[in-house]
Amino acid sequence: DSIPSTAYLDTLNAEQRRAVEHGVGQANPPPLLVIAGAGSGKTNTLAHRVAHLVVNGADPRRILLMTFSRRAASEMSRRVERIAGKVLGTSSGALTDALSWAGTFHGIGARLLREHAGQIGLDPAFTIHDREDSADLMNLVRHELGLSDAKSRFPTKGTCLAIYSRVVNAQGDLDEVLKTVFPWCAMWGEQLRTLFAGYVEAKQSQNVLDYDDLLLYWAGMMVEPAIAAEVSGRFDHVLVDEYQDTNRLQSSVLLALKPQGHGLTVVGDDAQSIYSFRAATVRNILDFPATFSPPADIVTLDRNYRSTQPILTAANAVIELASERFTKNLWTERQSDAKPQLVTVKDEADQARYVVHKILEAREGGTALTQQAVLFRTSSHSGPLEIELTRRNIPFVKFGGLKFLDAAHIKDLLAILRWVENPRDRVAGFRVLQLLPGIGPASAGKVLDAMHEAVQPVKVLAELPVPLRASEGWAGLVELVGRLVRREASWPLELGCARLWYEPLMEQSYEDAAVRVADIIQLEQIAAGYPSRERFLTELTLDPPDATSDQSGVPSRDEDYLILSTIHSAKGQEWKAVHVLNAVDGCIPSDLGTGSTHELEEERRLLYVAMTRAKDELHVITPQRFYVTQQSQYGDRHIYAQRTRFIPRAMTVLFDDVLWPAVTPARIEGLSPGPARVDIGAQMRGMWTK
Ligand code: ATP
Ligand code: MG
Repeated sequence: DSIPSTAYLDTLNAEQRRAVEHGVGQANPPPLLVIAGAGSGKTNTLAHRVAHLVVNGADPRRILLMTFSRRAASEMSRRVERIAGKVLGTSSGALTDALSWAGTFHGIGARLLREHAGQIGLDPAFTIHDREDSADLMNLVRHELGLSDAKSRFPTKGTCLAIYSRVVNAQGDLDEVLKTVFPWCAMWGEQLRTLFAGYVEAKQSQNVLDYDDLLLYWAGMMVEPAIAAEVSGRFDHVLVDEYQDTNRLQSSVLLALKPQGHGLTVVGDDAQSIYSFRAATVRNILDFPATFSPPADIVTLDRNYRSTQPILTAANAVIELASERFTKNLWTERQSDAKPQLVTVKDEADQARYVVHKILEAREGGTALTQQAVLFRTSSHSGPLEIELTRRNIPFVKFGGLKFLDAAHIKDLLAILRWVENPRDRVAGFRVLQLLPGIGPASAGKVLDAMHEAVQPVKVLAELPVPLRASEGWAGLVELVGRLVRREASWPLELGCARLWYEPLMEQSYEDAAVRVADIIQLEQIAAGYPSRERFLTELTLDPPDATSDQSGVPSRDEDYLILSTIHSAKGQEWKAVHVLNAVDGCIPSDLGTGSTHELEEERRLLYVAMTRAKDELHVITPQRFYVTQQSQYGDRHIYAQRTRFIPRAMTVLFDDVLWPAVTPARIEGLSPGPARVDIGAQMRGMWTK
């Protein structure tokens, strides 16, 4: 046996290396916290640590790796493979496969719950509701309880769900949450309590779990000592990236997995905490060391490897003005003369034109579109840019916005699959039944009630009386459901069966049915990548593919496309060139985020996250006229925006001040026509003179 070559350690700096080698080879490695600024190599260090563990004999199937998105998890597994695969001489892909416990908290929770369902009285065939399904179920319950009377001004289904989710994730008390976060709903405390009790009951009787349940049930499962020991015993190492954006529930799950902290590694950056609206708390990372005795070891990193010095200097300046103190001061060896650009444009249309102009210029210069990103505060803010990109035929993928699966026809098809997977899922059943002409909410409700009573719900379906108008399509539906429940077609062929049934209905209800059929064929291609209906439904619900410019799901790998992303979804990523849209007050910080210092500071961190995504080129853009589509009591408003307060005048020396297009301010405002370009009068006179 030769000693494995650890040449990959030489690529790390001393501090990174300390984190990578920490406790490796020890039986009970003590807990480790890596807390460091943006681009300092936290994620890279984590990947090296996993690789190093594996190289030193750790079993990859017993490593639990939790990241912010599934994309980040698979990227991490591939990196581990790249680092360790060569040393170990494993066949390509083997290590990535073995690292099967890499995913998001929710995804891992879903898997563990299915495997341990029997022990906690859960039916392992549960289906998962996404936020929209959850809101629909909340609405159904609201109706049943008579709480949806329009005159009563009872909170909307979305607000109800937000309150419920907040209470659950913060492990808090309803009254407290109402008082501090939703004061305008405080008067409804008692009714909300009844509603939430009904909502929980409905979920249980239908065997569905919502996103929050995946964490909640997991945490509940870990309270039972025997099960906790069994689940914890599956993993030798537990590693978490982006720990600053976890909530109480997630940290309690983590502690239940590794109560002494042995084999536990968390990494994150308190200056990048941007998810408090989902009850994430920066206290998790700050309190981590003292949770254990002896306390966790801490590694801090202060060298940034991502950005040029001028970009880093500007980002540091933004975060330095924060009211909370972050002790890190990042530096880099990447010198450059090019300052970041602070660009003033007339309006959002000009902003879109500026971005397209610069992006094409950069591509001419050799920077592929995939190496460039446009970031914005809210998904809707990329509207004008999307129009411009479409007009100019520039392909793009949008993260964090509308998902491929949000389209009605895709949801219809998925509802069919979900309903046959779990016939008690009322939200899915409602959706499918109402696809048939002649069946409305009332008759759908009756059908579902009858099924609910029955021992064999699907059998009952065939014998039910249905409205005359629906009788023709009914037989087809019954046949389809029967076939899929009996699994007569193999996966993913059954998706094709569902399409055949659905297509004629779709042609009746949508004018652009042909385009939509293409989407569904695309869905079938995506489905082929999953081993089973259950895995397909679970993973798609938890992490749906993003929408693309050609509305066909996922662009092919070799295509060059621009990245559009909300700042929240850009976490952890980096691009050569980054454009930050709408750097104006009212957007960053958002109008909704100026209520308290706490919220304002989160908005500042958001801008910091956006700026620190850039490697070589950063454009921070301010449209002078910024249209807020948010409705106020006076309707939609136009506001003349100021540059964001997070870049005050004194800070502008760190940027190149750019006015675009390069014309006089008077022209920009449209107040004066500017100097005449041609003298038409002289031309007219010239026609008659020699
Ligand atoms: P964020 O806070 O944005 O999540 P991070 O701290 O996780 O950032 P990484 O994404 O791991 O940082 O690394 C940023 C960049 O620096 C990557 O391109 C990475 O490859 C590079 N990098 C990290 N460490 C080193 C190193 N020791 N030598 C060279 N490049 C490095
Ligand atoms: Mg990272």
